[in-house]
Parts: sequence; C-alpha cells; structure tokens
Amino acid sequence: MQIMDPIFCYQVPVVIGAGISGAAIAMLTPNVVVYDKGRSYGGRVSSKQGTNQATFDFGATMFRDPMEVRWLGREIKYSIVEIWKSQSVSLQTKPIYSESHFYPPLGMANLVSAMLGNVKPIQSHTLKRMERTDGNTWNLEFHNSATKQTDTICTHSVILTLPIPQILEIFQRSTENHYLKLWSEFLENYNDYRKTLVSYFYWDQWKPDWKALYLDPEAKIPITTNLEPGTDWEYQSWESLKYPREFHSGSALLVQFGALFSETHFDNWMDEKKNPNPNDKGYLIQSLKEIFNAPEPNLIWNHRWKYAQAQMPLLGREGPLDLDSEAFEEWKHLCKETGITVLGDWLFGPKIERIVGGIYFLSHNDLL
Ligand SMILES: Cc1cc2nc3c(=O)[nH]c(=O)nc-3n(C[C@H](O)[C@H](O)[C@H](O)COP(=O)(O)OP(=O)(O)OC[C@H]3O[C@@H](n4cnc5c(N)ncnc54)[C@H](O)[C@@H]3O)c2cc1C
Repeated sequence: MQIMDPIFCYQVPVVIGAGISGAAIAMLTPNVVVYDKGRSYGGRVSSKQGTNQATFDFGATMFRDPMEVRWLGREIKYSIVEIWKSQSVSLQTKPIYSESHFYPPLGMANLVSAMLGNVKPIQSHTLKRMERTDGNTWNLEFHNSATKQTDTICTHSVILTLPIPQILEIFQRSTENHYLKLWSEFLENYNDYRKTLVSYFYWDQWKPDWKALYLDPEAKIPITTNLEPGTDWEYQSWESLKYPREFHSGSALLVQFGALFSETHFDNWMDEKKNPNPNDKGYLIQSLKEIFNAPEPNLIWNHRWKYAQAQMPLLGREGPLDLDSEAFEEWKHLCKETGITVLGDWLFGPKIERIVGGIYFLSHNDLL
C-alpha cells in the first residue's frame, strides 16, 4: 500500500459528509472542516429543480418537531426550530401535514445550507482510506473527482457521518489498525439499511382530483402526502402542493417505493441520465393511469438510495433518544479512545429531528 504524505495538517476536527449530520456539527462548532464526495451538499436531504425550475425533494420530505432525549433517568423535550433560533440559523419553515410536521419553502436542502452557515464544504472529495500516525493523528486520503488527483491531509480528530457500509469500505481499504478494527466490530451490530427507489413525475397540463385522493391543498395546514405502508407505491408526495408557486396548470409527484419493490427493482431501475428502463417506464405510466387516472407525464426522473434509512439505530428508532444504555457508553468510550467520532442515522435513527436534536444535545453536554 502506498505511503500517505499529507500536504496539510488541520488543527481542527475534520468532518466527513455534508448531509444533515455534518451540517448540524458545523452549526454547533463552526471551527471544523467538512469534506463531501458529492458535487453538492445535502446527502439524503436533497432538493432538485425539474424542467420548469420547480423544486422537488427526492430524499427526506419533512421533519417533525419537537423531539425527546432520555438521559440519566430524565426525559427532556427539545424543539428543533428553537435550537435553530438559538444558533441564529436563518431558516423559514412552514407546517405541513399536521401541526408537528414542517418543511422549508425553499426546499429541504435549505435545512442543510442554513445550518452550514459560513462553513463551505469541500465538495467532490471522496475519503478513500485513513492511517494512524506515530504522532496520534489520522492521515486521510481523498480522491478528488474534479481533478482526478489524490489529496492527503491530517488531523487529530475525525468525525464520520456516512452510512456504515461506506465507513467499513474505507476501513477495509486502510492500513490495518487496532482502532479501526474496534470500530468495525462495534458498527457491524447496527449495519442494517433499507433501500428506497424514487420516481419524480411532472405534468405541465394536468392536475389530479385532490378530493378523490383525500388531499386538501386549501387546508390551513395542507395535506400533500399519502402513506400506504407495505405497498409498492408506498409514499406519495405531491411536490406541486408543497411548492405551489411554480405550478399553475401542471403538477408534480414524488413517489418513494416500498422496501420489497425497491429491493427487487434496484439494479435495473435507471440509466445514467436517470431515465427509467423501458419495462419500468411502461409499468410506471400504466400505474399512474390506474391509481390517479393520470395521462402520461411530460417527465419521469428516477433515483435510487442504496442506504436509504438505518433500521436498527443504537439510540432507538421511535420515542426519546435513549442515552442510558450500555451501548451508548461504549460509543462514547470508542470516540474518546480512537480520535474518530462516528455519527449518523445508524446512531440517532433516520429522522431529521432526531439527528439535529441529538447532535445538539451531545454537543451541549460535552458528550461529543
Ligand atoms: C427517500 C428518503 C426519504 C426520507 N424521508 C425522511 C423524512 O421525510 N423525514 C426525515 O426526518 N427523514 C427522512 N429520511 C431519512 C433522512 O433523510 C436521513 O436519516 C438523513 O438525511 C441522514 O443524514 P446523514 O447526514 O446522517 O447522512 P447522509 O445524508 O447520507 O450524509 C452523508 C454524506 O456523506 C457523503 N459521503 C459518503 N461517502 C463519502 C466518502 N467516502 N467521502 C466523503 N463523503 C462521503 C455523502 O455524499 C453524503 O452527503 C429519508 C431518507 C430517504 C433516503
């Protein structure tokens, strides 16, 4: 294996991943450097603009507020919106679906950009491997997809916010090391993710019959989504109702397909330009007709999330984040001993409020 030769040594923690976890860290500790492999930040909280420049969210679609933490036998409630206010994060949010659900009218990715604030992530940098030096620091080797070159830096503190399979790949590529082995063994217990396929449909001259779909765009808190757990077309979000300004005569729908459908259709779901393969295209158009009485859409854009949501979070999936467990004590010990902190939805659960509230709580109680 080639020896790493860092061009630079940071005196501040280096965060890998500019998703909601990385952004929450940057909000609370702006004195960090953030690297991300993508061309833009957001990770699984990502928004895009379709053909008519209308925004749609193809990862998370909304968040809940408040959230709760259980620590030292007490349960404490936190409002995410209040956390943002206390950190001077400038972010507009609107209620949607119910009184406890919200979204930003500028698109979900706005959550990430607002929390990043002045911290500008270094994009297009994929962490490939890491190595412990004699001076108790970590060398980090990145592939820069813009220049096709290798950049190596070093730091005394690494914060990883990637899904576990991507972390384990980096560890496997790295020089053998006792600390990486300890982390690998620990993380294996939580390494379970579901896949999710999504499709975005856009019609420039057609809207469904909202009433027939039990949706109410005129309600004070608009209901814009349908959830049918366990079915193929599991979650339907009418993005044109969420972002109505861009739509006059048309409409747009984002569908998140169920776990079984996503698993079985994953490999052939789309081509490089994110067009559906011809078989699936026929199926999608036929289903749109059957379910919504919809004509063929003007646009179909597909995406696939390989590690969509962690299934067995260490701090629990529902209810308060449980910090009173032995596993959490072990996590704290590993972070301290190794100079590597591993965060993300495998720890808090795949919910924006749990991640933001959880990172806030850990940071404010010196647990991070
Ligand atoms: C389809 C879908 C719908 C969802 N709906 C909701 C919802 O409505 N409400 C809700 O609360 N939650 C929802 N979730 C869950 C939520 O989106 C995630 O739990 C959350 O976004 C995870 O954030 P993260 O920052 O921990 O990880 P990520 O968003 O995955 O961020 C990790 C970042 O690391 C980068 N990265 C990966 N590998 C490397 C590498 N080697 N080097 C450098 N960078 C790397 C990635 O580019 C990414 O930006 C949904 C998720 C999906 C997929």
